[in-house]
Amino acid sequence: MSQAEIEELAARVQRATRAVAFTGAGISTECGIPDFRSPGGFWSRHRPIEFKDFLGSEATRAEAWRRFFAIRQSLVGAKAGPAHLALAELVRRGHVASIITQNIDGLHAQAGVEPGRIVEIHGNGTYAHCLSCGERHEIDWVEAQLDASGLPPACVVCGGIVKAATISFGQAMPDQAMADARAATLDADLFLAIGSSLSVFPAAGFPVLATRNRTPLVIVNREATGLDGLASLTIHGEVGEVLPAVVELLHS
Ligand code: NAD
Repeated sequence: MSQAEIEELAARVQRATRAVAFTGAGISTECGIPDFRSPGGFWSRHRPIEFKDFLGSEATRAEAWRRFFAIRQSLVGAKAGPAHLALAELVRRGHVASIITQNIDGLHAQAGVEPGRIVEIHGNGTYAHCLSCGERHEIDWVEAQLDASGLPPACVVCGGIVKAATISFGQAMPDQAMADARAATLDADLFLAIGSSLSVFPAAGFPVLATRNRTPLVIVNREATGLDGLASLTIHGEVGEVLPAVVELLHS
């Protein structure tokens, strides 16, 4: 990461009025939430459980919940970091119109971005819901029930399967969020991919869609991504340094 790259990014952000920020787990690592693919990341210790396996057996559901509780320990009490706060400032200043996030941690909202500007394409890990009737259930309640009986609890309204309100591998993407993300991408005058390996599809299809629509793509990530070849500017660096430096330049 060089000063020239930061200045180039700041100049592009300054000109933008409808930028989309597309964020991944890398924007939250400095908040104590591990990403999936970095060394020591959650993926290296636990393979994800596929949605069909979650549906298929009570024992797998109990195991999925135990893994979720382990991840959740890092989510509870996590605070928005410098990159979340810098992005919120770019929204306030009218440069970034929407944040499409793959994250389930709720930290963009905590940083002060209004919920209407945040599209959570992989759901939200701060609550659970019934897969049949949609009834919301609190995670603490699920944990208490599972601790007491050893079995994952059923929906209190209809007896359906209760799952964290996140999107698992093999689960259909949420229709409304995908439509909102597509609309924001097609409307964008700049597409910023921040802290994502850009390897999880269909999510990573949005930066591809942006470039097909002739919208410039900027990638900010610690390491190379599979889509670096599509970007007109790639900055390999820490998101918590790059984004605050951009905001600083806009102030000056
Ligand atoms: P990923 O783990 O595949 O990629 C994260 C990328 O961020 C890596 O390339 C890594 O090098 C980079 N990175 C890590 N810390 C960084 C930093 N401080 N500065 C710059 N770059 C940094 O994550 P992904 O692309 O978001 O895909 C994983 C999926 O897992 C997501 O779709 C998401 O749903 C889920 N997930 C979410 C969270 C969360 O909510 N915080 C955490 C882990 C996984």
